[in-house]
Amino acid sequence: MPKTKNSITQIAYHIDRLKGCTACPLMVGPVVTGRPVLSKVYLIGQAPGPREGEMGRPFAWTAGKTLFKWFDSIGVDEETFRHNVYMAAVCRCFPGKAKTGGDRVPDNVEIKNCSEWMQKEFDLLSPELVLPVGKLAIEQFFGKTQLASIIGTKHRHIAFGKEFDIIPLPHPSGASTWHRMEPGKTLLAQALELIAEEAHWKAIARAK
Ligand code: SF4
Repeated sequence: MPKTKNSITQIAYHIDRLKGCTACPLMVGPVVTGRPVLSKVYLIGQAPGPREGEMGRPFAWTAGKTLFKWFDSIGVDEETFRHNVYMAAVCRCFPGKAKTGGDRVPDNVEIKNCSEWMQKEFDLLSPELVLPVGKLAIEQFFGKTQLASIIGTKHRHIAFGKEFDIIPLPHPSGASTWHRMEPGKTLLAQALELIAEEAHWKAIARAK
């Protein structure tokens, strides 16, 4: 079997296995995944919201509209993105509601459980451009940090046994005003410019 075909088969098999995961008892199913895309660009969200499960894909609701508007502004529309970028998340299941309101933040055990799926994806894909979206995703690579000191920057990073470029993005949630006010607006624009300059991004933009 040709190598590329074999790799696509492997990532499709990986997603099938991921969809059957029940490792975290407090998580609300179903597992939400993107398509089996053989891509060098790897997006990491935080965790799906309450609507993504029924829609069957990540970033399917209001935050997704904003996220895809950002990517559209640098040459890649939503369908092209979904067909060409591997969409992962820190946790792939909806964590449920927090007692204090809003969505529950996944705990460390859940994050560790789900990072095993991420490790497998890094093994299969060897991503060269990683886009963590939102604080929880950014923390997996940089630890606790202020958005204002990390958004609008690009780093060469090693994690999961691979070396890659990483460009963090803020969370596009409507509940967050960070990306709509200064300095967030300017820093987000800088981050998008950095992504647009990446060779793998340009190749996807040309593939439209
Ligand atoms: S959050 Fe991840 S590890 Fe936990 S049950 Fe869902 S898919 Fe499995």
